[in-house]
Amino acid sequence: MSSPTPHARKHVVIIGSGFGGLFAAQRLRKADVDVTLIAKTTHHLFQPMLYQVATGIVAEGEIAPATRVVLRKQRNTKVLMGDVFEINLEAKTVTSRLLERVTVTPYDSLIIAAGADQSYFGNDHFAEYAPGMKTIDHALELRGRILGAFEQAELSDDPAERAKLLTFVVVGAGPTGVELAGQIAEMSDKTLKGAFRNIDPTEARVILLDAAPAVLPPFGEKLGGKAARRLEKMGVEVQLNAMVVDLDYDGLVVKEKDGTTRRIESQCKVWSAGVQASPLGKQLAEQSGVELDRAGRVKVQPDLSIPGHPDVFVVGDMMAVDGVPGVAQGAIQGGRYAADAIKAELKGHSPADRKPFSYYDKGSMATISRFSAVMQVPIPGTKKKFETEGYFAWLGWLALHLVYLVGFRNRLNTLVNWFFAFTTRGRSQLAVTEQQVYARTAIGQLSALEKKSVEETEAESAGATPPGEKADDGEADTKVEAS
Ligand SMILES: Cc1cc2nc3c(=O)[nH]c(=O)nc-3n(C[C@H](O)[C@H](O)[C@H](O)COP(=O)(O)OP(=O)(O)OC[C@H]3O[C@@H](n4cnc5c(N)ncnc54)[C@H](O)[C@@H]3O)c2cc1C
Repeated sequence: MSSPTPHARKHVVIIGSGFGGLFAAQRLRKADVDVTLIAKTTHHLFQPMLYQVATGIVAEGEIAPATRVVLRKQRNTKVLMGDVFEINLEAKTVTSRLLERVTVTPYDSLIIAAGADQSYFGNDHFAEYAPGMKTIDHALELRGRILGAFEQAELSDDPAERAKLLTFVVVGAGPTGVELAGQIAEMSDKTLKGAFRNIDPTEARVILLDAAPAVLPPFGEKLGGKAARRLEKMGVEVQLNAMVVDLDYDGLVVKEKDGTTRRIESQCKVWSAGVQASPLGKQLAEQSGVELDRAGRVKVQPDLSIPGHPDVFVVGDMMAVDGVPGVAQGAIQGGRYAADAIKAELKGHSPADRKPFSYYDKGSMATISRFSAVMQVPIPGTKKKFETEGYFAWLGWLALHLVYLVGFRNRLNTLVNWFFAFTTRGRSQLAVTEQQVYARTAIGQLSALEKKSVEETEAESAGATPPGEKADDGEADTKVEAS
C-alpha cells in the first residue's frame, strides 16, 4: 500500500487540526516544503470555549472555523479530511479513511497531533449516559440534554421524576467541570428564570463531584478553595472524595471515602474526569518501542521525536513531557518546535543539532461564573506564581481567549455574544434539535446493525467460498496520495 513520495520537495504530513496541528502547519507557511494536514474533523476546534457552546453563550461556528478556510492562502498546504487509522513507520505512510475511501499518504516528516479523548477509566459504557466535553458534538448533545431535562420536567407531575430531571451532575472538578457547573447554575438561575410555567428552573440542583479531595487541583489549595466557595455561593453542591462507581440512564452511584455508597437520581450527567491520549500512540509504541504513560501519552525524546525516527514528532495532548501540562500552550509550542526542527534541516542542520524542547509556562486560568475566574501566572526569574481570582482574572480570561480565537469575525461575534450574555444574562444559542439529542443513540444503533451485517456477510462468505478462491471482503477503494 505504500509508494515512494511523489513530492518534488520534502513532504510534511500533519495529523490533527487542533492547536498542535494547526500551529505547526502555519509555522511551515513559508518553508520550502509541501504540507498535508489530515484531520478527522473539518474544523480547528477551540476547546477552551466548548462549555460556552454547551450552555448557549456562543454558537459552534464561532469556536470552530473550517481548517481549509483558515489555511486557504497558505499555498504549500493542503487539507485532507480523514480518520487516520494506521501509521506505518517503516514504509513512512499514513492511512486515513473518510466513509468508504481509504487514502495512503506518504511522508518525509510526520507531526502527530491527534490529541486526547475522555477517559472513563475502563467504564466506557458510562459514555452513553454521561457524554464528555471534547468535541462540538459533545457540546451540542449536552446543550440538548440540559434544555431537554427542563422541558421534560415542565411536563411531569411526579415530584420524584421532576427532581431527577432537575438534578444536573458534573463529574470531574478540573477547569472544564468547574466551568460547566458554574454555567449550568447561571443558566438555570438567570437565563431560564421565569421561562417555564410548571417548574421553577432556579430550583435545579447542580452537583459537581470528584474523587479527589480538592477543586481545581492544579491551581493549588488556595485558589481551588476560593473556586469551591464561589461555586457554593452560586448554589452548586460541591462533593469531593466522591468516586463514581456506577452510572446509568437515571442516575449514578457514588462511593465515599469511608467506602459507603449512595445513589444520586439525575438524568443529565456530564463527564469531565480524565483523559486518554489518541490510540495512534499505541501504534507508535508497537513499531518503535517508545513507551506510553498511563494515559496513553507518548514518552517522546527531548526533541519530541520517537526513538529511531527523528522525522516523526508527537506533540500536544498526545505527548508526555515532564512539566508540560495538557493545555493549548503545550500543544502550540510543541507544534511550532517540530515545524522549526523540520525547517532547520532544510538548511542543512542534522537532527543531532536540535536543542531539547523547552516549555514556556504562560500561566493558567479557569472561569467559575460571570465576573469570576482564577488565574495563576509564573513570576519570571522566580519559582513563584502570581495568583488572583475574581473580576480581573475573569477579564484576563476573556481577553486571552479572544486573542487565541481564530478569525476576526469569530472574535467580533463572540465579543457581541459575551456582551449580551454577561450584561443581560440572556443567551442567544438555546436552540436544540431532536437529532442533536438522539444522534449518539442513533449512531450507536446504526453501528450495531452495521457490525451485525458485516458479521453475517463474513459468515456467509466463509461457508460459500470454495477453497483457494478469495471472497469479496468488501474492502474499500484505496487511493495513494499523489499530489
Ligand atoms: C473542554 C476543554 C476545555 C479546555 N480548556 C482549556 C483552557 O482553558 N486553556 C488551555 O490552555 N487548555 C484548555 N484545554 C486543553 C486544550 O484544549 C488541549 O490541551 C489542546 O487542544 C491540545 O491540542 P492538540 O493539538 O494536542 O489536540 P486537539 O486540540 O484535541 O486536536 C486534535 C486533532 O486531531 C484530530 N484527530 C484526532 N484523532 C485523529 C485521527 N485518528 N485521524 C485524524 N485526525 C485525528 C482531531 O480531529 C483534532 O483536529 C481544554 C480542553 C478541553 C477538552
